Amino acid sequence: MATMNGAVLPGDSTVRHVKVDVPEPGHGQVLLQMKASSICGSDIRAIYREHLGAGPEAYQGVIAGHEPCGKVVAVGPGCRRLSAGDRVVVYHIAGCGVCEECRHGYMIGCTSPSRAAYGRQRDGGHAEYLLAEEATCILLPEPLTYVDGALVSCGFGTAYEGLLRLQMSGQDRLLITGLGPVGLAAAMLGRALGAGPIIATDIAPERRKMAKDLDLVDHALPADNSAAAAVTELTGGRGCEASIDCSGNGAARAFALENTRTWGRCAFVGEGGQITFPVSELLIHKQVTLHGSWVTSLRHMEELLEHLVRWNLHPERIVTHRYPLPQAGEAYRVADGGAAGKVCIVFD
Ligand SMILES: [Zn+2]
Ligand SMILES: [Zn+2]
Repeated sequence: MATMNGAVLPGDSTVRHVKVDVPEPGHGQVLLQMKASSICGSDIRAIYREHLGAGPEAYQGVIAGHEPCGKVVAVGPGCRRLSAGDRVVVYHIAGCGVCEECRHGYMIGCTSPSRAAYGRQRDGGHAEYLLAEEATCILLPEPLTYVDGALVSCGFGTAYEGLLRLQMSGQDRLLITGLGPVGLAAAMLGRALGAGPIIATDIAPERRKMAKDLDLVDHALPADNSAAAAVTELTGGRGCEASIDCSGNGAARAFALENTRTWGRCAFVGEGGQITFPVSELLIHKQVTLHGSWVTSLRHMEELLEHLVRWNLHPERIVTHRYPLPQAGEAYRVADGGAAGKVCIVFD
C-alpha cells in the first residue's frame, strides 16, 4: 500500500512528522490530493500550544489542518457529484447530515456523536492526501487558486458569516477589533459589501501596517488608550453602525460594543474567554443588537466563492508565508508569533 507524509500536533508547540497509508475512499467519500492547507488561529490556541477542548472539541491525535483545499483524484462508490480532476474546498466539519443544523448547512453546529472535524477528530489537510466526505466538498471556481480556497474553508467563511449576520451594506461604517487573518478577511469582504470607512484596531504594529499596505482598511489604530478618542473623531462622535470582534480578547469586545453606534449591530466571532460589561449602558440603552456567529454554512461558503469571483478578490492576498509540508514546524512557529498575516502549507 502507498504511504504519504503528514503532520500531527503533539500539543507542546512542536510539529511531528508521520508516515501513514494513503487512504481509500469509502462510500460517499473522495480522495483529495492536497494543494493548500492553511493554519487557523484556533488550532494555535487549542491544539498547537496545548490540547484544550474536550469531547467533540478534542484533538484526537489525527493529521492536523482544518483549512484544506485540493484536487479530487479518486471517488468512492455512491458519489453523486464529484469526479477526478475537480478542484474543491473542504467545509471543515463532517456532520451527521440529517439533524436540524446539518440540514441548514451548519454542520459546525451538529451535535451527533458521528460529527467529526477535519484536523481534530478525523485526518485533516496537513498531508499529501485527504479523505473527505463528498457532502463536505465545495467546487472551487476559476480563477480562484487553491490557496484562496484554503482560506475560505474556515477564516474567510467565518468572517463572511459574521458580516451576513450584521447585514453589512454601503450604509455602514465598519469597526473591526483584531487584525489577525479573520479580521483581515472581514475588512476585505466588508469593503466588497460596500462598508466604509473601515476602522480597525490591533495591538501588533506589523498587522496594522499590513492592513494599511494592502488597503484593506481606511484606519488602523493601535489597540490602546488612544483608540476610543480616535474612533470618536473619525465618526463625528457617533461610533460605527456595525462592528465585529475578531480578536477574542475581552477588552477588544468591550471596545467594539462601546464604539457601536446607537441602533447599531455588533458581532463576536473571535473565540474563547469571558467578558463583563455594563449591559444597560452598552446594549439596552443604545438599542444595540449583539450577534454570536460560529463559522458558516455550506451554502454561504459556496455563495462566498461565487462572490469572490464576481468581486475579483483573492483571499490569498493576506498570505505572508508559504511553506512546503516538511517545513510545517517553521510554519506553525511563524503563525504562533502573532505578527504574520496568514500562513499556508502548500504542495507542489
Ligand atoms: Zn478555523
Ligand atoms: Zn448533524
